[in-house]
Amino acid sequence: MKVVGSLVICGFPYEVVEVDESDGILADGEEGSTRALELRIYIRAGLPWPRRRDTILHEIAHAFFEATGLLGFITAHTKKSAEADRFEENLIRLATPWLLQLIDTSGPALGRLLTPEGPPT
Ligand SMILES: [Zn+2]
Repeated sequence: MKVVGSLVICGFPYEVVEVDESDGILADGEEGSTRALELRIYIRAGLPWPRRRDTILHEIAHAFFEATGLLGFITAHTKKSAEADRFEENLIRLATPWLLQLIDTSGPALGRLLTPEGPPT
């Protein structure tokens, strides 16, 4: 288990922690997990770079859904909790590749546009 980063997600200080089989944190085949109560995002050690970044962003999205109350909102509008979890999972799986593409193609521009100083004149 190794802390590889820290993020503030909706005001909550999360640690990003890399784990392997011996840590017993992730289920077989699971590449990441967000544990909101622990304020930790776990990612599987040794993932190839594209899978690693997809997993990290995917787990950030789970933390975002939890912290913002979006997961609770979805749960309130579905009949079963498992149905809400599937809905959230599908939303995140649909959005993550496009967010990664946005970061790849426009990351520096986004940084300039979204900083307190605003875009350069
Ligand atoms: Zn997920």
